[in-house]
Amino acid sequence: MLSRDRFSSEDMAKIKQSMDIVEIIGNTVDLHPNGTDEHKGLCPFHEEKTASFTVNSAQDGNFFYCHGCHVHGDVIDFISRTTGEAIGTILYERGLSLGLVDTSMTKKVKLIDRMHIFFQSCLAQSDDPAVLDYLKSIGLSKETAKAFGLGLSPKNSAKVLSIITKAGYSINDIDEIGMLTSKEKYADRRLLVEGRIVFPVHSLNGSVVAFNGRSLSGTIKPKYVHTKNYGNSKKQDCVFFAGGHGKSIVVVEGATDSIAMKIAGFDSMSINGSKLHSDTAKFLARKYKSITLIFDGDSAGYRCTKNALMELAQIIAEKGCSVYASTLPAGEDPSCILSNVGVTGLVDLVSCSQPLSEIAFEEAQELLDGNEDINGIFYRIAESECILRKMPLSATSYCIISALEKAHAQK
Ligand SMILES: [Zn+2]
Repeated sequence: MLSRDRFSSEDMAKIKQSMDIVEIIGNTVDLHPNGTDEHKGLCPFHEEKTASFTVNSAQDGNFFYCHGCHVHGDVIDFISRTTGEAIGTILYERGLSLGLVDTSMTKKVKLIDRMHIFFQSCLAQSDDPAVLDYLKSIGLSKETAKAFGLGLSPKNSAKVLSIITKAGYSINDIDEIGMLTSKEKYADRRLLVEGRIVFPVHSLNGSVVAFNGRSLSGTIKPKYVHTKNYGNSKKQDCVFFAGGHGKSIVVVEGATDSIAMKIAGFDSMSINGSKLHSDTAKFLARKYKSITLIFDGDSAGYRCTKNALMELAQIIAEKGCSVYASTLPAGEDPSCILSNVGVTGLVDLVSCSQPLSEIAFEEAQELLDGNEDINGIFYRIAESECILRKMPLSATSYCIISALEKAHAQK
């Protein structure tokens, strides 16, 4: 991941100078001139009726500052805060056009795109019954699979590698993007996803950075393999997007669950692993007004939900977004609910999800033994690993605590 300190201060200055701060912020905020080098408008980060958000475009300035909520930063911070784009991505894209970024990275990005297009065309041309059966089992046809970016890696890697190398890439390039097995002798190396259905893995800004391969037969283990490199992204912040352009999102465990949710009409995203990492949580809170978590009904799924709620509880108050969670019946996942019950099963699941404040209340209530006064309640919460402890003191957390006190007084 590129960060500010990967660029010299001169290069950072070049990147910022290449961006017109007034024009960029002006796309989001209605700005009016306010003296030389300053513009003013309504702050996009807090509710206000009188403009207190300023943009300074002086040569040595180039920053924004809100006199109301004191949020401030440079043009890159603004884009990152409002679009949810990682600072590394913004710097990468801008730095690239100024020739400040290592172009071998550009070659890798292009190669991943090339491989993705190739896998998609292999799926479009395939008549293999095992492929069609698998797609059907997750609610897709070959045509709809394309919309989700799915592909197929042929059984014969040698043929694929020869096509890709003829397009100007070396075996070493393919190895560098983490797509080759490493056990064989160099000349015999194969694609990790050989003979598998290929799912794209996205960075938080939506570009494809890696692939997961799903085996087409129960006898081929493991069921899933992952390519080994995630470009500029961290593995834990990679996801699979099935839609995600609206203001609400359903977060699930697996890519096929995410596809099922999208078929049921919800923009959805699945996490890459068993934990919602804090940077992904921050991205969700910035980008969406409503986040619904639906993880498996086993102990791993329960831990995943609890961790995700703890991450989100710390940050949602300032972003003004709502969080809900629902647990799946044991042994079921969204994909199997879609095939057994249909769309209504998933719609019901989402509509029955519980708001975070209610979950935090119920969890805290279980911690109390019934003898605490208000100080005792605060103490119990402070000493426990509970969701309420992670929530900043706000109107919501205060309401929960007073509801706990009330519930106690009635006992
Ligand atoms: Zn403000």
